[in-house]
Amino acid sequence: MVHIVGAGPGATDLITVRGRELINRADVIIYAGSLVNPALLEYRKSGCQVYDSAKMTLEEVIALIEAAEQEKKTTVRLHTGDPSIYGAIREQMDAMEKKKIPFDVCPGVSSFCGAASALRMEYTLPNVTQSVIITRMAGRTPVPERESIASFAAHQATMVIFLSTGMLNELTEELIKGGYRPDTPAAIVYKATWEEEKTVICTVESLNASAKRENIKKTALILVGNAVAQNGYERSRLYDPVFTTEYRKGTGDKE
Ligand code: SAH
Repeated sequence: MVHIVGAGPGATDLITVRGRELINRADVIIYAGSLVNPALLEYRKSGCQVYDSAKMTLEEVIALIEAAEQEKKTTVRLHTGDPSIYGAIREQMDAMEKKKIPFDVCPGVSSFCGAASALRMEYTLPNVTQSVIITRMAGRTPVPERESIASFAAHQATMVIFLSTGMLNELTEELIKGGYRPDTPAAIVYKATWEEEKTVICTVESLNASAKRENIKKTALILVGNAVAQNGYERSRLYDPVFTTEYRKGTGDKE
């Protein structure tokens, strides 16, 4: 049996209880060493074999899993954050399905949630925006043209941009092309929830200069939009004394 497990954004106590128990029971752990905090491996039992997938191909990962299955071992495939976001898990799940290897998925706290917590930020502010766009600049993995940063920028929603810290001048250009003002609030969150976490509040225009100043080159998220400023919002209806909800009678209800 294979468990694909979300490791969370970095801090070792931000993996789920289920994820930690799966690590503790695993005979084999294959972890994404480029981003997963290796301290999480301390939850493993003695005798557990550990492999870093950063040095491996998909074929090598699958071969390891297959060998473990033949010996009736339990494997944990540990991915950073939540595995459903830029996790490259579909290709692994397809290969396992083909080989009739049983697997399941344990979710994790994605780094975009870790970044919001680092900034004590709410992405969805009433009257500012009610949407979060998770995207990336095209890199070695292409992004379909209809999903260009410029086209998303037109929505003026909160944007969380993964995998793009090395392309900040291009990112700024795309954001402005799409309709963001150069002085739109933005933030860079480096290694959210790790000891080395760094947060920088800047603007769309100053993204590259800010990252350079802080020497941030990778493992960061870029947040963009008026929500980053965390002001100019309306208070929620949910907790407004005037409004009735399913659980509470309001003072101003006319029905
Ligand atoms: N599945 C992961 C994302 C993997 S893609 C998740 O849910 O978070 C790898 C990218 O995620 C990195 O290039 C970086 O942009 C971002 N990332 C991962 N961990 C991060 C962290 N702790 N802080 C900031 N960005 C992080």
